[in-house]
Amino acid sequence: MAPIPGSGLAKGLAVTLRTMTRKSVTEQYPDALPELPPRTRGVIGLFEENCTVCMLCARECPDWCIYIDSHKETVPPAAPGGRERSRNVLDRFAIDFSLCMYCGICIEVCPFDALFWSPEFEYAETDIRDLTHERDKLREWMWTVPAPPALDPGAEEPKEIAAARKTAEKLAAAQAQAQPGEGTS
Ligand code: SF4
Ligand code: SF4
Repeated sequence: MAPIPGSGLAKGLAVTLRTMTRKSVTEQYPDALPELPPRTRGVIGLFEENCTVCMLCARECPDWCIYIDSHKETVPPAAPGGRERSRNVLDRFAIDFSLCMYCGICIEVCPFDALFWSPEFEYAETDIRDLTHERDKLREWMWTVPAPPALDPGAEEPKEIAAARKTAEKLAAAQAQAQPGEGTS
């Protein structure tokens, strides 16, 4: 059967009328910033104080886009008569975000919690070479890493926090012993 003349136009107008009354789903970016979930993979932050230059992240990165340079330094013995120790000192830590595929393997494998996801995503560049972020820039991203979610009330205290609390209690007890008369007058 031949279509009624003008029926296509009527259908089109009906769709227009229907959608005109609905709320728009268009995000007005960049005037309105999107609300991103806390685990968004935007950029990687480096907390270099935790990095021991173990090279695990660079070795496991499937894109080979993590560049690390370091040198060894001799540290004096902890106690008199002890042996000198050597430690790695970080010289360069960079991630090339033009190659990174945001798989998160480097963050997962880091045994020392030195790498974190930040939800920041506005770092487009006009020169691709500027997408290699050196350690200072990676360090700055750390300020944009959201705080971890609160623990479940019934959860065990993390061992790092328990150890830090015990050390703080011991220090406080030692200080109190060293100044026994203080606060009793
Ligand atoms: S997220 Fe994946 S691709 Fe990107 S630096 Fe880490 S391991 Fe490499
Ligand atoms: S895995 Fe972690 S500690 Fe090891 S080099 Fe990479 S960031 Fe540093």
